[in-house]
Amino acid sequence: MQKYTVAQFIREFSTEAKCIAHLAELRFPNGIECPKCEDATQHYLIEKRKCYECKECGNQFYPTKGTIFYRSRTPLTVWFYVVFQMAQTRCGVSAKEIERQTGVTYKTAWKMCQLVRAALAEGDFAAMEGTVEVDEAYVGGKPRYKGQSRRGRGTRKQPVVGLVERGEDGSVKRVRAFVVDDTKRDTVLPLITDNVEEGATIYSDEYSVYRPLGDMGYGHDWVQHRRWQYAKEAVDYETGEIVSEEGTNPVHTNSIEGFGSHVKGGVTAVHKGVNPRYLQRYVDEFAFRHSNAKKETPMFTAMLSQIAVAGQLSATLP
Ligand SMILES: [Zn+2]
Repeated sequence: MQKYTVAQFIREFSTEAKCIAHLAELRFPNGIECPKCEDATQHYLIEKRKCYECKECGNQFYPTKGTIFYRSRTPLTVWFYVVFQMAQTRCGVSAKEIERQTGVTYKTAWKMCQLVRAALAEGDFAAMEGTVEVDEAYVGGKPRYKGQSRRGRGTRKQPVVGLVERGEDGSVKRVRAFVVDDTKRDTVLPLITDNVEEGATIYSDEYSVYRPLGDMGYGHDWVQHRRWQYAKEAVDYETGEIVSEEGTNPVHTNSIEGFGSHVKGGVTAVHKGVNPRYLQRYVDEFAFRHSNAKKETPMFTAMLSQIAVAGQLSATLP
């Protein structure tokens, strides 16, 4: 993937005017359409008001309206810098770091990061198809007793159920993950039926909650981690033939496990643990980053594009 360099960022987003213009372009790639003139008319930027004015009728248009930037007292240059920082590394950036680098208060930095995460969570509601991996991970939580290992029982960790939709070539196409109270059947199976198209093939480990999937209209196969099995050939359910000869869709859950350790590592290392109340937001941020990691578009561009349309999306939801 292309990376957005710091030099490039400074060149393109150094002023409010540049940021507003960029936002307007993301929202109206074919020119700003004036609702009064009912046409894509010429518009002038009024920098002080962060708006554009129609040359024909004087109608004003606010590119930030409907986005997380609307009515914020923080300059867009700072907002864009926060998004840039979140896009720069695999695990994002802490509010503390944003406070240090931009000079906004910790409270403002924290709120900005949360709003960016909320925007990243929006926008992709289509059911997953084809081959989907599912797995649970346990995230965060401090050891209950001092000196105790961070792993396993005795620690309070929040379960997260993750889904990875594979692309044609077996790579990660889309990731979704959900913070849950437990990993019982009644919790996990509805998440799958809500997010995965019937007829899709689901790969899991041998955990018993996934057993009914085969009777629920899904193809289901699993690896047995307890037997040190991490991948096996996929089998066509009707013919019994092995279908993963080219090595594209073998039965394994490595992609979703990779996502799980990414979240666990990031939450611990960058954010020093997260309040379970807000964990979903962080998980959404990681899912967005994971879904877009192998794409052509630079992460920063992908994030900005999503943020520019996020408010509009929720406005059209039932
Ligand atoms: Zn007009």
